[in-house]
Amino acid sequence: MLTTHYELKPNVKEFLAGKIELFINGKFVPSVSGKTFETLNPATEEVLALVSEAQEEDIDLAVKAARKAFESGPWPDLSAAERARIIYKFADLIEQHKEELAQLEALDNGKPYAVALADDIPATVEQFRYYAGWATKILGQTVPISKDYLNFTRHEPVGVVGQIIPWNYPLTMASWKMGAALAAGCTIVLKPAEQTPLSILYAAKLIQEAGFPEGVVNIVPGFGQTAGAAIVNHPDVDKVAFTGSTATGKYIMRQAAETIKNITLELGGKSPNIILEDADLTEAIPGAFNGIMYNHGQNCSAGSRVFVHRKHYDQVVDELAKMAAQVKLGPCMDPETEMGPLVSQKQLERVLMYIEKGVAEGARVAAGGKKAFDQGYFVQPTVFADVMDDMVVAKEEIFGPVVVVLPFDTVEEVIERANNTQYGLAAGVWTKDIKTAHKVANKLKAGTVWINDYNLEDPAAAFGGYKQSGIGREMGTYALDNYTEVKSVWVNI
Ligand code: NAD
Repeated sequence: MLTTHYELKPNVKEFLAGKIELFINGKFVPSVSGKTFETLNPATEEVLALVSEAQEEDIDLAVKAARKAFESGPWPDLSAAERARIIYKFADLIEQHKEELAQLEALDNGKPYAVALADDIPATVEQFRYYAGWATKILGQTVPISKDYLNFTRHEPVGVVGQIIPWNYPLTMASWKMGAALAAGCTIVLKPAEQTPLSILYAAKLIQEAGFPEGVVNIVPGFGQTAGAAIVNHPDVDKVAFTGSTATGKYIMRQAAETIKNITLELGGKSPNIILEDADLTEAIPGAFNGIMYNHGQNCSAGSRVFVHRKHYDQVVDELAKMAAQVKLGPCMDPETEMGPLVSQKQLERVLMYIEKGVAEGARVAAGGKKAFDQGYFVQPTVFADVMDDMVVAKEEIFGPVVVVLPFDTVEEVIERANNTQYGLAAGVWTKDIKTAHKVANKLKAGTVWINDYNLEDPAAAFGGYKQSGIGREMGTYALDNYTEVKSVWVNI
């Protein structure tokens, strides 16, 4: 491995050396039990920091703080414009601390620092700015009933919102959840993933500085089956917004039935990326590569099934394999690193298990296929060729840098095969024919379809899944619906 490294910022060193506690009711506090958990650097397997571990009693305190902040001032008394100003200020502060936050993202998650700085932090800032703008534009309707009655709707905040997020984009996922909820006037109990609690806890200091009243945002790091479940099962949480695996999403849906909690679920995927016969291969091949390998394949919308017209199959497999072999793996703080480690030992084992399964099922490893380096959770970018639709590697979400490449003959056939999955999060189609592009996009059962591109995201563009990829949409105006109740008011005039 290379030896050159970015220097850690003094604030980051100080943060990692200090106590990292829960953020409840505007203050940093230890967990009631005094328990802590380790968070690791996945490139070195070394302990980065000890973090206070929230359990049921801490979640209860956080929910009580959020309830108090929701029901009694100053938060509910602020005008929408004042709420917007605080969210804008928070976005500005994140931007001012972008290097510290990008370093923490990189150390905790394993993604290259340069990527966190160029992609994750700006995306987080833009998300908060976008929803700060919406705070003053959440409008109701006046409804023309008759000359004797006025009816109008108020879009009121849902209340106390439990938000549970995964580790693949720690800060960006927090912003997807928090931005719309805060714009709507909700209060929040947010649980980061146990693998990556650091950047959002550093950002909690900026929440204080931005001027959010006490209890509006509470950050409770901890494990899913304890802290996460306590949020889901708390009777005073009005809504749960979750991003993570389909298995946990099913658990949340079952539990939410007890109190008819409002839920939004952003779950897994096995997204098809389709290269049609007339595609511009100079764009489609790098597009397909980026579509799966970005963020080391740890991307819910990863284009993990690449369907290629049979005429181009061998060329696409060869070029994807060459690109995979050239990726520079390394630790996140090395400026030359293009791909870091997977997030955890568990994730490494899961991805290696799928690679073994693919080989056992008879798929051909065109590139990669092995763990890289002795230390750290690195896996080689892997390309599987000669894959059949019914192989496990073609059906299940691997959530790592592993792509299966499948040949097809006709457009009708590929649409049917692309849709033949329990998931429906995203899809891509590459073609020079605008009519075919629309025809295929219309028929794909996916919440997002990219035409001649992949992995594009914007706070204004809706994101979410069909089928077992989720319920509801984040981003755009749709996310505001997740965090508002509609009240219909009648006036006898
Ligand atoms: P996971 O479901 O195990 O964990 C996600 C979060 O849920 C973590 O914070 C975890 O602590 C918590 N959790 C786990 N069990 C829980 C329980 N019983 N009750 C409450 N909370 C619980 O998912 P993961 O494997 O860590 O994350 C990867 C998954 O997330 C992939 O399937 C991926 O597709 C999905 N994901 C989806 C999107 C999207 O927007 N659709 C985005 C990112 C990741």
